[in-house]
Amino acid sequence: GRCVVAVDGPSGSGKSTVSRRLAVSIEARYLDTGAMYRALTWAVLRSGVDLADVESVAKVAGEADLRIGTDPQGYGVTVDGVDVAKEIRGPEVTGAVSAVAAVGAVRELLVARQRQMIVDAGRIVVEGRDIGTVVAPDADLKVYLTASEAARAQRRSAEDAVDVAATAADLARRDKLDSTRKVNPLQQAPDAVVLDTTELGIDEVVARLRALLSD
Ligand code: C5P
Repeated sequence: GRCVVAVDGPSGSGKSTVSRRLAVSIEARYLDTGAMYRALTWAVLRSGVDLADVESVAKVAGEADLRIGTDPQGYGVTVDGVDVAKEIRGPEVTGAVSAVAAVGAVRELLVARQRQMIVDAGRIVVEGRDIGTVVAPDADLKVYLTASEAARAQRRSAEDAVDVAATAADLARRDKLDSTRKVNPLQQAPDAVVLDTTELGIDEVVARLRALLSD
């Protein structure tokens, strides 16, 4: 039946791995909203508009034909027919995404798309920064994952194959931008279950979430 799980938290908190695994185990779809912000950032960088020019950024984002799959075992991301799955994980996009995600019109556009995708899927695990607070405040389960800064940098650098110190610096910079922006900052929903994943294995986190869902 219908079931919406919202998973929020900073990068490196284990969100993606946990969300995908949970989706597979409860036979749900999976939506990576960070990938959507990253894909529009790719479009903005390709267009060459100045990141500080909010109106132009919003215009490029509004005109981009963004498509993203929801299969937790592997989903594609395209912009105007170009497969951007790899490039959205690169340093250029990672360096610019917080600025693009801070543009109100970009968020409005993506939040509306995300809500529609949730309705269409019915049974879905959605991960991001504002899912439990803004995108799906009526989710059946809201989870907020945290982890120590060291653990987060370690995981992210392993994923991206980048040096740990550089990753730690980038995470700190993005966390600051994400949590201090005026439009929908990263926030914990008051009714979210908070799990610190520093010492927990993925299997354990997934098992706890499954237990919460069957309560
Ligand atoms: O989760 P990920 O690191 O891929 O997200 C990339 C960036 O997208 C975040 O640093 C944040 O600026 C933005 N984001 C957001 N809202 C979401 C998901 C991601 O602002 N729901």
